[in-house]
Amino acid sequence: MNGIWGQFVGNLAFVSLAISIWAHLSIWLRRRFAGHDKILFGLMAGVASIGSILLAVDFGPGIHMDLRFAPLALAGMFGGPLAAALSAFLAAAFRAALGGVSAIDGVIAILAVTGMGLSVNLVMKKRSPTLLSVVVFGVAVGGLLTVLMAVLPTLSKAHALAAMGLPMAAMNCAATIVCGFIVLTTQHLELERRMLETAFSQSPDYLYVKDRDSRFITVNENMIRLYRFKTTVEMVGLSDFDLHPQKLAEELYHREQEVMRTGVPLLDSLEHIEGRDLLASKVPLRDKEGRVIGLAGVTRDITDRTALERELRESKNLLSHAMAGMSDGFAMFDRQGYLIFCNEQYRNAFPLSGSARVVGAHISDIVRQTAETRERLNVPYDSVDEWITVATSTLHRNKDEEVQLHNGDWRSIKTRLATDGTAMVVVSDITVMKQAEIALRLSAEQLKNLAETDGLTGIVNRRAFDEAFMREAARCARGNAPLSLLMIDLDRFKAYNDTYGHPAGDQCLRLVSKCLLNSAKRPGDIVARYGGEEFVVLLPEADEKAAAVVAEKFARLLGEENIVHAQSEFGHVTASIGIASAMGHLLQAEPGRLLSEADAALYEAKMRGRNRILVRVLADAADVKLAG
Ligand code: GH3
Ligand code: MG
Ligand code: MG
Repeated sequence: MNGIWGQFVGNLAFVSLAISIWAHLSIWLRRRFAGHDKILFGLMAGVASIGSILLAVDFGPGIHMDLRFAPLALAGMFGGPLAAALSAFLAAAFRAALGGVSAIDGVIAILAVTGMGLSVNLVMKKRSPTLLSVVVFGVAVGGLLTVLMAVLPTLSKAHALAAMGLPMAAMNCAATIVCGFIVLTTQHLELERRMLETAFSQSPDYLYVKDRDSRFITVNENMIRLYRFKTTVEMVGLSDFDLHPQKLAEELYHREQEVMRTGVPLLDSLEHIEGRDLLASKVPLRDKEGRVIGLAGVTRDITDRTALERELRESKNLLSHAMAGMSDGFAMFDRQGYLIFCNEQYRNAFPLSGSARVVGAHISDIVRQTAETRERLNVPYDSVDEWITVATSTLHRNKDEEVQLHNGDWRSIKTRLATDGTAMVVVSDITVMKQAEIALRLSAEQLKNLAETDGLTGIVNRRAFDEAFMREAARCARGNAPLSLLMIDLDRFKAYNDTYGHPAGDQCLRLVSKCLLNSAKRPGDIVARYGGEEFVVLLPEADEKAAAVVAEKFARLLGEENIVHAQSEFGHVTASIGIASAMGHLLQAEPGRLLSEADAALYEAKMRGRNRILVRVLADAADVKLAG
């Protein structure tokens, strides 16, 4: 029995060796005969199978027990259709040539096992086999052989005779697993190697390995592109002296020799080669004993980066020059409210809080400093915390502000948001413009006053009164409020002038307007000079009774002035007064009626002897009440 098992182990060693040789050669074969490696696998598996048959343990006439099935199964599983067909053909042909009673069954078994390997290959398609799948496959091969030996007539007979069927199936199962493991491991190694090779050759950096004399052992594809070679092999054995001018080559050589002599890596050193900026790192390589045997280099092309950096630096300089030269203050705040840039003018624009306006300061600190120094006018200093919160939270908004400083100067603050959320602030000194604007507004107001004021008495003139009358009439009409009008004419004034002179007459007119102003004192009342020595008083929201009170008060005040008028029947200056009163709705269609009725009442007062008050109340269009 030992002899038989010894023969089996020898058989296993042969099959494993053949598969192992193929697995290791396959890396080289794949590179040399790309596309034909499957054929070679088929040939090798066929040869291994035949070898196993030749080393077979002989169990009887024409009955051979061996491990021929393991390489065939693996050729199907790992090699695919071509390898399976080739190996099965070789093994089957050889088995048929050997002849014997079980030749046909032997060929059938060969085809069946190879076929099973192939079907596993087809089922798994592109998925890589795992160790578990190899083990399962090995067990399946053992199972198939057991079945074949049970059903194929000559094999089942030998099986029965020798009781070796099961051990043989088990041995083929074990051989399939062992050889499958060898193939799998080699495939993994090959994959890892290919990945490393790809990473090396396809790296965007320049990679190379040099020997102790600074000669290239290997380079990646970027290196051959840089030095305009076609293949990496062309660069092997060259040194920097073959690529660069003598001076530069010497410099590089000494630098590398220094790395290898001291064993200290050179990291990120700047080199200028072929007009490009390169960032080179060189690391010494050591053998097992720690001796330096060469170096590995990585060089990164940073020409574009340095050009970009230079451009950035230049544009930054340009920007800060522009910012320094402009007359306005300029500041930028990031999204969080921190000052990231400002020019000197920005700081100078706010003399009291300038010290807080520095890069890195937060807007809330700047606003607080403004508040604490009371730099700005019109800030609610009694609720300053609230103001600081609002001013801080509204930084990131487009807005135009005009603020006045403690010393009366004005600043325009324009804030604009950039797309990235940065707030850009432009501050201009608008003091001169603002002062001119204020002066202009004042003189416009003065002009308006002049246009609306009577020069002699200082009260509202006829033109302004007419406007006010139409406005008030419309307003009272809308609210159906009462409106009253007093029309006043001095009595015998021509004679007064004639007697006392025009200047005295003017002075008298001024006294009259003063008395009128003192009589109609509600905010809405309007006292105006209507022309010559005629005056009007408009009393919004006053009925005839209230109007009469005003008129009587005026008459009394004028009497108290006691302006002597010798030509008057009363001995002093008096006035006749016509009053017209109406409810608003009556004035809607024809507001002028109030004027004509007041005029009519005045005329009536003159007719009745002067120095009196007559009232007309407009009840409706037809009926005018008269009271004296
Ligand atoms: P009556 O009682 O009927 O009103 O008599 P009267 O003399 O006042 O007559 P009337 O109202 O027509 O008088 C107008 C006079 O007012 C004429 C003019 O001498 C005088 N007067 C008009 N405007 C001025 C002015 O601006 N200054 C002066 N001093 N007198 C003026
Ligand atoms: Mg008159
Ligand atoms: Mg008069």
